[in-house]
Amino acid sequence: MTEFTSGTLTGKNLHLSFGHNHVLRGIDLHVEKGTTASVIGPSGSGKSTLLRVMNRLIEPDQGDILLDGRSVLKDNPDELRQRIGMVFQQFNLFPHKTVLDNVSLALRKLRKLSKDQARDEALEQLDLVGLKHKADARPANLSGGQQQRVAIARALAMKPEVMFFDEATSALDPELVKGVLALMTDLAKGGMTMVVVTHEMGFSRNVSDTVTFMDAGVVVESGPPEQIFTAPATDRLKGFLSDVL
Ligand code: ADP
Ligand code: MG
Repeated sequence: MTEFTSGTLTGKNLHLSFGHNHVLRGIDLHVEKGTTASVIGPSGSGKSTLLRVMNRLIEPDQGDILLDGRSVLKDNPDELRQRIGMVFQQFNLFPHKTVLDNVSLALRKLRKLSKDQARDEALEQLDLVGLKHKADARPANLSGGQQQRVAIARALAMKPEVMFFDEATSALDPELVKGVLALMTDLAKGGMTMVVVTHEMGFSRNVSDTVTFMDAGVVVESGPPEQIFTAPATDRLKGFLSDVL
């Protein structure tokens, strides 16, 4: 795949409460440029909230976020969000727009490309995810796996330095999961910096460089996949792995 511009991203001592619910309780997460960090943990442990705080969809109550070693908390949050691409469980495509328009819209609005440039770049991204031939289709006429690949193309078209995936395959029928994971694996191997929240333990174990296990708003364990999956140190991680593996 193409070479990516990529950044080192660090969340330091991040705290976030929703009312009285202290959801993030001092989270540290570090992803080195060109590597993939997976985040695993039970439902409700704060994984989605962590991603949303790290791209400043929600402001942390405390802590810092560094991109290439520099705090981004004083920057314009819109700019940060353009540097971090995000892919959700629900693909969030515009249903009434074509696949091509879904990918090219932000290129025109945010990257201010001309119509022709946006079209060319969008087609290039669609080609990378194997869906150039669907450029004129509407999302509803694609499979869930194809829709998710369009959502990934749309995020990549912004030339992000980091990509966030929040359970990107959880809404897919089992037979469609493989294609999306294969694309994510290609991106990881191509040098994209990625933070991947996932229930796919195979991906976490085989593709990611580091694994972070969260429970109840804290990082319980973090380390290389061999360590996390073959030598869990805490009962909480042992229990989680025995439930999911
Ligand atoms: P996970 O992604 O690990 O399943 P979440 O980050 O979605 O966990 O949720 C962590 C906690 O934060 C849960 O208790 C959830 O109910 C709460 N929460 C998440 N989003 C909101 C919100 N927008 N408003 C209030 N509470 C929220
Ligand atoms: Mg979640």
